[in-house]
Amino acid sequence: MIATDVCIIGAGPAGAAAALQLQQFDIPCVVVDKAVFPRDKICGDGLSGKVLTALNRIDKEIGARLCQLAEKEGSWGVTFTAPSRDSLDIAYQPDYNNQAKAGVPAGFVCKRIHFDNFLVNEMKRCAGIQLFQGQSIDKYTLQRDGYLLSDASGKFLVKAKLIIVANGAHSAFTKETGGIYMEPKHYCAGIRAYYKGVTGLSADGFIELHFLRSLLPGYFWIFPLPNGEANVGISILSSVVRKRKLNLKKLLQDIVTNDPVLKQRFTNAQLVSGVEGYGLPLGSKKRSLSGERYMLAGDAGYLIDPFTGEGIGNALYSGRMAANQAFACLLAKDFSASHMSAYDDEVYRVLGPELNLSTKLQKLARRTWLFNFLMRTAMRNKQLRELMSCMFYEIDVRKKLAQPSFYVKMLLNR
Ligand SMILES: Cc1cc2nc3c(=O)[nH]c(=O)nc-3n(C[C@H](O)[C@H](O)[C@H](O)COP(=O)(O)OP(=O)(O)OC[C@H]3O[C@@H](n4cnc5c(N)ncnc54)[C@H](O)[C@@H]3O)c2cc1C
Repeated sequence: MIATDVCIIGAGPAGAAAALQLQQFDIPCVVVDKAVFPRDKICGDGLSGKVLTALNRIDKEIGARLCQLAEKEGSWGVTFTAPSRDSLDIAYQPDYNNQAKAGVPAGFVCKRIHFDNFLVNEMKRCAGIQLFQGQSIDKYTLQRDGYLLSDASGKFLVKAKLIIVANGAHSAFTKETGGIYMEPKHYCAGIRAYYKGVTGLSADGFIELHFLRSLLPGYFWIFPLPNGEANVGISILSSVVRKRKLNLKKLLQDIVTNDPVLKQRFTNAQLVSGVEGYGLPLGSKKRSLSGERYMLAGDAGYLIDPFTGEGIGNALYSGRMAANQAFACLLAKDFSASHMSAYDDEVYRVLGPELNLSTKLQKLARRTWLFNFLMRTAMRNKQLRELMSCMFYEIDVRKKLAQPSFYVKMLLNR
């Protein structure tokens, strides 16, 4: 049996961030993942500015090494396409120009098989992290002095004073112990495919979000990758999928072959992967993220941004916060649910305002006319374009966009 102070279940972004942050306090830990890396994860592969920020906060050297990673494409902005088909390029930095492009882009697109393996390699650099791959944790028993964890056979055993549960969207622990269940109103279904040869991709790695009428408040995306590849997919609320009885694979096929605007771009494109789906547990509802001797991080804690679908940044942020709380618990020798709840407070203090605003924006996005109106106005209005430039990263900007008065002012100033 392996004995440790902290065991982290899952070596994705949330688990890796937790393990790497624990090394900042010289706390050894055990990380267990059922997969063997490099492994794929169904995702849009979009790394927002939060990813680099989070890694820099753990250790600037990790951030610097991510910037050196070859298998990624720099992204300087987003192209929004409204249901009316009006398109708008919004740079991540309002002062974006050729000069700015000499620096580090705010975002990246990087296949998860490479990004997550980068994080695993970062963990392998640390003597204090004991990583077990190809080992599933299926049983969790709370004992007087810690959690006893094991695989289904009971042969692989770990005893930990504290566990950080970072095993993603399908976490059994989240349901069985955390009491958090999938609710279609707070959950998205997503599918992803890799294509080669899609035409009209941005030279500056702008990611494309197409808010097609049939998908609102979800969207169709095209994210440019290195070597002429693109990550193409759809994300849509599970309640909408159920209500409209949608088949997402058919929908994707229909868009790339029949959509009057998009089909030209896929005429000579080749599908170079399967079309695969996975769930997105949204942070559009506040949940209890901890209890006696455990914390839920990343998708296991339902922390995906309900408007943008971004979850990697929040997984890294929450993993880091879980490690900070683990440090506090070990110091105080207090693993009670009440002491652990400081983790919930911190997660919702940092991510809560943004999650709340994104929930409002997701609701606004259901209104086709509002989307079309905003896009047309922004095409004519430099100030609004600049405001939207920071939308994905600046909380104050999102705050403005979530206020009805903002749209009234836009109407009056047209
Ligand atoms: C279709 C789609 C598109 C998306 N697009 C984007 C995007 O472009 N940008 C973005 O930021 N986010 C995106 N997301 C969200 C993003 O993928 C997640 O938020 C992110 O992966 C969460 O990281 P995590 O570490 O919490 O979980 P995961 O990345 O899922 O990692 C969990 C790890 O736990 C392991 N594990 C699972 N069960 C066990 C077990 N029993 N025992 C041991 N190990 C276990 C798994 O093998 C895995 O390695 C998308 C999601 C989907 C589904």
